[in-house]
Amino acid sequence: MHQLSWERLIIGFMALGACERALEVTLEYVKGRRAFQKRLMDFQNTRFKLAEVATKVEVLRAFVDQAVAEFLAGTYDGSRAAMMKWWATQTQCEIVDECLQLHGGYGYTMEYPIAELYTDARVQKIYGGTNEIMKDLIARSLDSK
Ligand SMILES: Cc1cc2nc3c(=O)[nH]c(=O)nc-3n(C[C@H](O)[C@H](O)[C@H](O)COP(=O)(O)OP(=O)(O)OC[C@H]3O[C@@H](n4cnc5c(N)ncnc54)[C@H](O)[C@@H]3O)c2cc1C
Repeated sequence: MHQLSWERLIIGFMALGACERALEVTLEYVKGRRAFQKRLMDFQNTRFKLAEVATKVEVLRAFVDQAVAEFLAGTYDGSRAAMMKWWATQTQCEIVDECLQLHGGYGYTMEYPIAELYTDARVQKIYGGTNEIMKDLIARSLDSK
């Protein structure tokens, strides 16, 4: 039980790493793949989606950095860990889903790393305590304030 906050923080690290990798492989893909005589990267929708993904990755990184600082200072509590766990993994699933969409049909084949990132992302919302339970823990701490 004493290790749960640490475990949930580690799940946040994993989410951040997966999101960074998803952005990296998707950028590589959309710059190489062409449709309608253009690179996928040249379509406005692709540019906007990737701008959103890159911003979410930055926000997640700031959240993780702050959590590490709090953990090292000994001020990281269970409620903060629950926030990290649910939000980081929810964001991971959203980001990986958007990145897979930009791969089109190839994104659904295991030859492309985004498919593996997609498969791996889903369980993050379950283990370490489900995201529903994380929200319950946060609500309990809000209720007791
Ligand atoms: C790949 C993997 C690795 C795992 N590794 C470990 C490990 O190393 N150590 C370990 O101890 N466990 C491990 N687990 C177990 C994991 O922590 C549990 O699966 C998880 O906590 C959910 O419990 P459950 O499967 O019993 O689902 P349930 O508790 O049956 O939940 C089913 C659904 O009901 C919802 N639910 C349940 N209770 C409530 C509630 N009070 N309010 C609202 N919704 C609720 C859940 O959110 C979920 O959506 C692992 C699981 C997986 C899939």
